[in-house]
Amino acid sequence: MHWTRQVTKPRLDIFTAAKQAITASPYAFGPVAAMSTATKPSALTFDLKARCSTSKARASTLHLPHGPVDLPIFMPVATQASLKGLTPEQLEETGCRLCLNNTYHLGLKPGQAVLDAIGGAHKLQGWNYNILTDSGGFQMVSLLKLAKITEEGVRFLSPHDGSPMLLTPEHSMSLQNSIGSDIMMQLDDVIQTTSPDHARMKEAMERSIRWLDRCIASHKNPSTQNLFCIIQGGLDLDMRRQCCEEMVKRDTPGIAIGGLSGGEAKADFCKVVDTCTGLLPENKPRYVMGIGYPEDIVVAVALGADMFDCVWPTRTARFGNAITSSGVLNLKNARYAEDFGPVEQGCTCTCCRPKEEGGLAITRAYIYHLAAKETVGAHLLTMHNVHHLLSLMRRIRTAIIDDQYASFCKQFFAKYFDGQPPPIWAVDALKGVGIEI
Ligand SMILES: [Zn+2]
Repeated sequence: MHWTRQVTKPRLDIFTAAKQAITASPYAFGPVAAMSTATKPSALTFDLKARCSTSKARASTLHLPHGPVDLPIFMPVATQASLKGLTPEQLEETGCRLCLNNTYHLGLKPGQAVLDAIGGAHKLQGWNYNILTDSGGFQMVSLLKLAKITEEGVRFLSPHDGSPMLLTPEHSMSLQNSIGSDIMMQLDDVIQTTSPDHARMKEAMERSIRWLDRCIASHKNPSTQNLFCIIQGGLDLDMRRQCCEEMVKRDTPGIAIGGLSGGEAKADFCKVVDTCTGLLPENKPRYVMGIGYPEDIVVAVALGADMFDCVWPTRTARFGNAITSSGVLNLKNARYAEDFGPVEQGCTCTCCRPKEEGGLAITRAYIYHLAAKETVGAHLLTMHNVHHLLSLMRRIRTAIIDDQYASFCKQFFAKYFDGQPPPIWAVDALKGVGIEI
């Protein structure tokens, strides 16, 4: 265990430590106006390649410490420094060049001392491409019922021995510095977007700004690791605007829109993304956290977002669900028992590709046979689903570069919903940026 142990007396010293760190920071902390003019170290360059002439969609290349990645991008989630069911080689073969690791899980096991000894998570998992880490806070609040948020940080009981622990912004940065992730996320105060408690929502938004300042002050490697801020404010657009304004002043290398995908109506989700992207600088990557349904991604790209992540494509594979261009198929259904076609016709993933093209030529009937009995069925579908999402992102990017994104959206919705009318929220959100589907 390498989390900060909470001592019996309140750890007031932590604020003193944070203050000292602020004074010594290369970010030259002080009045906000001075901060925004300071030259900030950054470990990325953002190269905007094309803009859609109709919507707010954009295509770019993000140059990170472990190589370039093309945006818009979907980032698969490798919770425990491993994508469930895939080896690093198989993940590489899907075309993935940026995946997620969870700080909470890595901080518990192998722990910070082991990460320091081995030289970070890239070495631990044999992954030579980019890694993004979350702050650890969201995992804690969502996994541990007893997690409690105070100004100091997130207090929780150790899942191992029940002892009281504390994750502060400083500790989250220290862990992410040890992990060596190419993109680090600030510790933020996240609450459910649908919470009716306006005062608590405001407190969380303002606290997230204060915690960003503490993260910036304690980040040890700003020239080799990129810290992204996270815009909070629930579904209240004024609060989101206020948060955007404050976060943008802090001039982090990238910006995330957080707290979404928490059960809010899709129309509300779209309004928040649209409002935030309208206030964010053009020359920085915009990451909408927790988004992974193909239809959500296609709409959010039109609203000006560049980066997405979600456990859904890999989790749903373990339930026998294949993501295809014609919607999601549950291959546990008996109707596939004698379906000898590939999981998706024309898919170039290792699972679907014919033998003569070096693939495994797996049939739907085989997945049906394996599903729920053998883990290899889940592995094969994980391979397909990750490949499908990454290939969708490549098609989205090509359409933006060719300035065909409006017609891409129309074709995508017609096919994905199999001729059924597309959902109203998607029609309205796209209409708001000039796309009729
Ligand atoms: Zn496939």
